[in-house]
Amino acid sequence: MPIYSDSRLSMYEECPFKYKLRYRDNIKRDIEGVEGFLGSRVHETLKKCYDDLRLTRLDTLSDLLAYYNKIWQENWNDSIIIVKADLTQAHYRALGEKMIETYYNRYAPFDQDITMGTELGLNFPLDDDSKYRMRGYIDRLSRTQDGTYEIHDYKTSAHLPGQQDVDNDRQLGLYHIGVQKKWPAIENIRLIWHYVAFYEELVSYRTPEAISSLIQNTKSLIDEIEAAEDFPPRESALCDWCEYPDLCPMRKHLYTVEALPVNEYLKEPGVTLVNKYVALKDEVKRIGEEIQKVREAILEYARKEGVEVIKGSDCKARVKFEEKLKFPGKNDEERQELDNTIIEAGKWTEVSQLDTTALTDAIESGLWSKDLIDKVMKYGRIETTDSVRISKLSDEEK
Ligand code: SF4
Repeated sequence: MPIYSDSRLSMYEECPFKYKLRYRDNIKRDIEGVEGFLGSRVHETLKKCYDDLRLTRLDTLSDLLAYYNKIWQENWNDSIIIVKADLTQAHYRALGEKMIETYYNRYAPFDQDITMGTELGLNFPLDDDSKYRMRGYIDRLSRTQDGTYEIHDYKTSAHLPGQQDVDNDRQLGLYHIGVQKKWPAIENIRLIWHYVAFYEELVSYRTPEAISSLIQNTKSLIDEIEAAEDFPPRESALCDWCEYPDLCPMRKHLYTVEALPVNEYLKEPGVTLVNKYVALKDEVKRIGEEIQKVREAILEYARKEGVEVIKGSDCKARVKFEEKLKFPGKNDEERQELDNTIIEAGKWTEVSQLDTTALTDAIESGLWSKDLIDKVMKYGRIETTDSVRISKLSDEEK
């Protein structure tokens, strides 16, 4: 079994197809988003700050900014992508400077604790047989005066999570386990996230119960990944930063036609078909609305003239007004009361029938026992269905 990392697990959760390309098919791409590039340079700069400090040198803010700009320039290359069209390399570079300045002003002269290591590598098992192994890098491990060890993680993202999110965060929870495995004598561990764009520090602790449940959940997820045969693409906001648009069924066509000049683009068979389909659907919608209006006019005419049959040139319309018994719909407030009344009267099976959509959901989510699923599946069959859904292109996709 391979050694897992939190980022590897997250990739599977975010998009199984991307995971397959990266880890099963081993396709590596030398593409990086500017946000990731910025994060790496800020991390390297803060690492330098604490590494120098361990050698008794206190860097000034100008030293760190000079270093940051130097490594930015040295590492910048054409494969770095900027998704947000209204921002430039200079905006991101300045943002990184601001983060370093904010961090520096908050923590200088950095004497709150003793740094035990920066970019500290961990490689540890989750179980006694070393079947499930994890690896990771702690941005900074430190020890405070009261003997508490602190696992620090620098976050340069533009999103500040809530306390509950960090209390459930897997990455630093795993590092907690890794540190305890490496140094079993350590008792108190504090997890700290530095959200450098927000001048914010989020803190969390892990109880022994939380650690056991984290180990269990992580092992289950690894088992699921190891057993997976189906890796569906899962579209999300992260697709704009994905390095596999040319291989992904959700993005391949967008990627291919984006490179075509307008005159060729409009003639491309896929583009032509979608444009035609949308035009026809619009026409159907317009006709549907028109039919509805004429229908209402026919009913109104019948009411006014007191007739039930209206003659046209080749056809006639038969109009019927009748009263029908209606009950509250599925989402109406009174529906539950109605259901209960029938169930309590023991008449439920006389008026209800199996909801096969709910049954499919129950089977697919695996919530029922295997025994029951096997019994039910004797009646199930796999059929290929298809659908074409139309949606607007996002700004990034245009
Ligand atoms: S483009 Fe989106 S759906 Fe496709 S592989 Fe990448 S992340 Fe997954």
